Amino acid sequence: MSAEPQVIVIGAGPVGQSAALLLARWGVQVLVLDQRPGRGSGGSKSICQQRDVLDIWAAAGAGQVAEEGLAWTTARTYYRDRELLSWTFEREGPLPPCVNISQTRTEQILDAAIAAQPLVEVRWEHEVTDLTQDDSGVTVHCGQRRLRAPYVLVCAGARAQAIRAALGVTFTGETYDDQFLICDIKADLPGWENERRFYFDPVWNPGRQVLIHPCPGGTYRIDWQIAPDFIPSDADIARKIRQVIGDRPYELLWHSTYRFHARLASRMRVGRVLLAGDCAHLVAPFGARGLNSGVPDAENAAWKLAFVLNGWAGGGAAGVVPRGAARGGGGEPGGDRRHHALPRAAHGGGAHAAAGRAGGRAGGRGRLGAFRRALLVRRLAPDHARALAPLRRPSTEGRGVPAVTRRDPA
Ligand SMILES: Cc1cc2nc3c(=O)[nH]c(=O)nc-3n(C[C@H](O)[C@H](O)[C@H](O)COP(=O)(O)OP(=O)(O)OC[C@H]3O[C@@H](n4cnc5c(N)ncnc54)[C@H](O)[C@@H]3O)c2cc1C
Repeated sequence: MSAEPQVIVIGAGPVGQSAALLLARWGVQVLVLDQRPGRGSGGSKSICQQRDVLDIWAAAGAGQVAEEGLAWTTARTYYRDRELLSWTFEREGPLPPCVNISQTRTEQILDAAIAAQPLVEVRWEHEVTDLTQDDSGVTVHCGQRRLRAPYVLVCAGARAQAIRAALGVTFTGETYDDQFLICDIKADLPGWENERRFYFDPVWNPGRQVLIHPCPGGTYRIDWQIAPDFIPSDADIARKIRQVIGDRPYELLWHSTYRFHARLASRMRVGRVLLAGDCAHLVAPFGARGLNSGVPDAENAAWKLAFVLNGWAGGGAAGVVPRGAARGGGGEPGGDRRHHALPRAAHGGGAHAAAGRAGGRAGGRGRLGAFRRALLVRRLAPDHARALAPLRRPSTEGRGVPAVTRRDPA
C-alpha cells in the first residue's frame, strides 16, 4: 500500500476481514492490523451463519462460504428422551436460511478474497497498544510504531480491553459459571446429516443441555454444558461422545472448553473510532448471534465510513450534524443525506461507481451484483433511516462519522 490508508481496521478476525472487504468494495483503502503472527489453523468457534451474513459475504467476494457451508434443513428439540418439536425449513431464494461451516474455513475464504483485493493490506504482528485522535484523524500506536488514518474501526474481539480502555469504553455484563465442552468429530451418522439437535436435560447430561450440529465433510459439532469445575479428561470426552453417537466409529478432530459472557460496550463510536463485533458485544453462542451480529456491524460501519470518506454524506469528513439539527431540517450523514447520495450512487459517479469498481475486482457478483446492490440499498434506504434514527448520537461524541447501529445482541 503506497498511500496512507483511509481506514485502519484493528483485528483480522472475521469481523475485521469482512469490514476490510466491504470498505474496499466502496473504493476505500484499508490497512488491517493484527497482533497475531499470522492466521492460526486450529479449531473453530463459530459454525452457524445466517442468510443475511451469507449475503453480505457474497457481495464482498466471499460467496464461497455459502457454497461450502452445509445447509441444514431440520431443527429438533428434545426434553429428556422426548422430542418436543421439530422445524423444517426450505431454501427460498438463492441463499439458504443458514449454513454450518467452521469459522476457521470462513476466515480462510475471507483471506482469499482479501488477497485478491488490492485496496486491502494486512499486517500481522502489529499489536495496537493505544489510540489517540485529533480533528483530522487517528494515530494508532503499535508499541513504538505509529500509523495514521482518518478513521479506525476496532474489530479486536472480546479481549480488546486495552483499546476499549484507551477509548474510555466500558464493557459491562456478566460471565456465566457453567462451562461448555465442544468437540468436532468426524463420523457417519445416517439421518443426522441435515439436522440440528438440541437436548435439554438428557439422561446422559442430567440438568444440562447438549447441542449437536452437522457440518460439512461428515463432521459434527457436539456442545455439552458441563459443571463449572469439571475438567474433562480424554476418557471423559470419549465417554461423552459414546453417549451421544453409540458404538459407531468416530475421529475426534478438535475439542475445547469455554465459558460464555453477556457484555455490551458503552459506546460503539468514540470520535473517529468505531467498534464492531465481539469487542462491542458478547452473547451466548446459543442462537448463533456472535459473528452473525458482528458482520452486520461491519457492513453498517463500512457504508457509513465510505459515504463520509467519499464525500457522499454531504458534510464530508467535517462533521456529524446532531440529531436535533437533523430533525430541524439540518440532515445527517447516515440518514437523510444518504438518500440524496443514493440517486447519484445508482446513476453513476458516486457510490455505484465505487462499488462497481471494487465489486468487479472482488469477483463474486461483479459489477452487476454491485449495481443491483446499490439499487437495493436505494430501495431500503428509507427503512434504514427510520431504523437508525433513534440510534444516532449527538455530535458532542465526536465528529466525522455517523453512529453505528447497535444491533440487539440478544
Ligand atoms: C464455542 C463458540 C461457538 C460460536 N458459535 C457461533 C455461531 O455458530 N455463530 C455465530 O455467529 N457466532 C458464533 N460464535 C461467536 C464468534 O466466534 C465470534 O462472534 C467471532 O469470532 C467474533 O469475531 P471478531 O472478528 O469480532 O473477533 P475475533 O474473532 O476475536 O478476532 C479479533 C482479532 O483481533 C485481534 N486483536 C485483538 N486485540 C488486538 C490488538 N490490541 N491489536 C491488534 N489485533 C488485536 C486478534 O488477534 C484477533 O485476530 C461462537 C463463539 C464460540 C466461543
